[in-house]
Amino acid sequence: MDDWAEGYFSVAESGELVVRPTKDSEASHNLSDLVEACVGAGASLPLLLNFPDIFRDRIRTQHACFADAIERYGYQGSYACAFPVKANHSGDLVRSVLSAAEEDSLRCSLEVGSKPELLAALSEVCASGAPGCAQIICNGFKDRKYVELALLARKALGADVVLCVDRYEELELVIESSSSLGVEPALGVRAKLSTRHGGHWGATSGPGSKFGLGAREMVLLVRRLRDTGMLGSLRMLHFHLGSQVAEISVVKRAMREACALYAELVSLGAPLGSLDVGGGLALTYDGGGGPWTPDHTAQNYANDVVASVNDMCVQKKVDAPVIVTESGRYLASHHSVLVFEASCGQPSLPPGPEAETRAAGGAMGYFLDTFEEVYEESAGASDPEEAYADAHQFRAEAQSAFSLGVMTLEELARAEELFDGIMERVSRRAPGVGRLESARTSGAVPCLANLSVFRSAIDAWAVKQTFPLVPISGLAEEPDAHARVYDLTCDSDGEFRSVATSGDAPSSVLPFRRDGSGCLTLGLFLVGAYQRSLGCDHNLLGGTWEATVAMREGGGWEVEGLVGAEGAEEVLRRAGYDAGRMRRGVEAAAKGGELQELFDEVLRDSGYLK
Ligand SMILES: *Cc1c(COP(=O)(O)O)cnc(C)c1O
Repeated sequence: MDDWAEGYFSVAESGELVVRPTKDSEASHNLSDLVEACVGAGASLPLLLNFPDIFRDRIRTQHACFADAIERYGYQGSYACAFPVKANHSGDLVRSVLSAAEEDSLRCSLEVGSKPELLAALSEVCASGAPGCAQIICNGFKDRKYVELALLARKALGADVVLCVDRYEELELVIESSSSLGVEPALGVRAKLSTRHGGHWGATSGPGSKFGLGAREMVLLVRRLRDTGMLGSLRMLHFHLGSQVAEISVVKRAMREACALYAELVSLGAPLGSLDVGGGLALTYDGGGGPWTPDHTAQNYANDVVASVNDMCVQKKVDAPVIVTESGRYLASHHSVLVFEASCGQPSLPPGPEAETRAAGGAMGYFLDTFEEVYEESAGASDPEEAYADAHQFRAEAQSAFSLGVMTLEELARAEELFDGIMERVSRRAPGVGRLESARTSGAVPCLANLSVFRSAIDAWAVKQTFPLVPISGLAEEPDAHARVYDLTCDSDGEFRSVATSGDAPSSVLPFRRDGSGCLTLGLFLVGAYQRSLGCDHNLLGGTWEATVAMREGGGWEVEGLVGAEGAEEVLRRAGYDAGRMRRGVEAAAKGGELQELFDEVLRDSGYLK
């Protein structure tokens, strides 16, 4: 757990999961207390808890990593941390970035990639009262209105709005609009590097990427800007390899290439002054290797970025640029936790007299007796591998016997119970049991989670991402069962097929301690980046309750904002249903009465289980 929690979350001695405002804060708060307070104030689960303090701490931490690296290499330039708004569109976060810039005197910018994102950034910059101090980096594909909005914001507000040319075709539009609006722009250009990143988002890197300018287009851009007298406006070189770049060697290669390009552009007469290395800083989601476990830390990343730029400055005698990062996943992920309930359990079949006698007397009596013996022995010192194999054999035979009509339903139910029992016992005989993982999966308790993977953790499905999933209390004792956690949707993909627990290798099942209630309260962690904006209305399950919790360094906390779950009405509206029309239709057909009442009530409520 230390791997992915990075100090913000841990298990207290009491077995409660606690959260901290900063990595090394003394103050820690039980997640279950926060949830209880929100529920007391009217909220219900699933509940997304947002911790702006953690977001602020991430910004400070990233600044600290770069400050360290700058000192270590004696780098003459400075650092600026840009937040890519697409990672989380929440207005709170955009405002946090602006206030971090002001209160902590940190150099922070906003990065946007579309017109609506630019609107969001601009409105907050205006509301901050000091628009002239803000920097907005405009990436993404652009049309005339996008370009003009950026240029006019620069002119009217004095804000440092950088227009980054993402494709060569945008250049003429930028030149034309700047001249017709009479604005001297600050231009950036996105490079298409040849360095490829091998992870899931690798397609945004390499020569085949849909973004950026290659060598030929770069040369043409410089010539065209020179011809129009605008080369002096080229202030930033930008690249972005893609998300979750797990291998540091890819970062190193990209940095070498980008630095060579930077020095070339300077030698061609572009002033530049900023090198924006994009996002992609990878997070640890589990301790199991693979794409969800990077081979480097945020400090390693800062060191490599700064060292590469420094080498360039020394070797090519180039003035040290401002280094800009656009890490979205890194900054936003930890600040949100989704808390939800899961109801777990298979009813157990009491060995009542009816089942006993039928089994003993039936054709399959001997078979079940032998299976029973395997179960008894599986608790003891016998070979768990053997019990594992026997149980699978017996279950397969039971299923065939049932299909052939020689086993009764009662007998089959007993056989299934014995199988599950053996799997659970075998799975606890760790370590050294080769088929442990498989035993865990086959013996796992099915748990119905009151959430939609597609709404709240869509990447678990879309890119098979591993998310940390942990019960928020009862962690003082060793787990004695495993759960398969599936969601409320009618989709077989609505399941957590890979979860990280306590820093273990990723697992398909969740370890938990049975408390007899059959109900688990779980926290899904690292969901602060992308999940909220990518989540969809599958099965018409809308947004969950959301709470913004401020934590105090000296202890104490406060629920600053509580937003209700979306009613079914609202989600249905997006699908083309008008609530008024729906109500009137039912009213006319049912002539009021009980159906009408219940219909109205369910329409107002959110679609999650109560
Ligand atoms: C998505 C994106 C980012 C953020 O990437 P992360 O993987 O979240 O760090 C940064 N810059 C650009 C241009 C992007 O498109």
